[in-house]
Amino acid sequence: MAKPDVLISEVGPRDGLQNCAETMPLASKTAWIAAEAAAGVTEIEVGSFVSPKLLPQMADTADVVAFALTVPGLDVAVLVPNLKGARMAVEAGAHKITLPLSVSETHSLRNIRRTHDQVIEEAKAISDMLDELPEDQRPHFEGSLSTAFGCTLEGAIPEDLILRLATRLMEAGCDEVGLSDTTGYGDPASIKRLIRTVRGEVGAKNLTGVHLHNTRGLGLANALAAYEEGITTFDSSLGGLGGCPTAPGASGNIVTEDLVFMFESMGVNTGIDLDALMACREIVAKALPDEELYGFTPKAGLPLGFKGAPVPAAAE
Ligand code: ZN
Repeated sequence: MAKPDVLISEVGPRDGLQNCAETMPLASKTAWIAAEAAAGVTEIEVGSFVSPKLLPQMADTADVVAFALTVPGLDVAVLVPNLKGARMAVEAGAHKITLPLSVSETHSLRNIRRTHDQVIEEAKAISDMLDELPEDQRPHFEGSLSTAFGCTLEGAIPEDLILRLATRLMEAGCDEVGLSDTTGYGDPASIKRLIRTVRGEVGAKNLTGVHLHNTRGLGLANALAAYEEGITTFDSSLGGLGGCPTAPGASGNIVTEDLVFMFESMGVNTGIDLDALMACREIVAKALPDEELYGFTPKAGLPLGFKGAPVPAAAE
């Protein structure tokens, strides 16, 4: 089958749910994952191997991974904060693991009580552990540079520090680095600038994905800017789940439905059926009745005669 032009990586079951007050039952998580995969989503970050004391919403991640692995054609991604989490991810059989490194050291200390050096050590330990695995069991290992476009505690982060950390993550053994606008501070110009600079440092093939939040309404503009720079993987969340409780009306991640609509309207194939994707909202709404679901396209509906992007011809 032909590969879509861009990869939409759904992070709602992880980033979305970890920011919700309520815990979604396992049966709803699995129904949601199955429905999105059936709609054509080929990568889903299904959970996070963190302490269940810190994030009870993620306590069943091993079970969620076990289910997700039974869904044909689905790449199963998880977040891990450390070596212990990475071991659990490998045991569960995840295809992709992401280790976040906050480029703001204040944020890193506040969040996970670790300095930059300590997180890099952890990346090295994870990479060493992965190197022991047979090739077909080794998950893809991404180091994610979070708060890359600014931090609520430190403000702007010096670019040379970000570049140094990107290089150190690659040297520690990551397969690639990603850029995360955790705080929604990025704008299209800063997104382009940082992608270009980091790619200049680690090579274009080692930075293919961005993780954007829509905190200030610039999410889609930022995604488009990243696309124009050659980025091909976009994290997003169904219904923009995970809205920040301290900023009413501000959604969390960029909304998967709107992102897919933008690309498909532009003629950029995502491989996703929009009607089927929007129908997944019912599962989430039913499981989390108090959670607000965002998105313009689901509210307005698809334009009359909307066909979406043409499916690219299979490579010879
Ligand atoms: Zn996020």
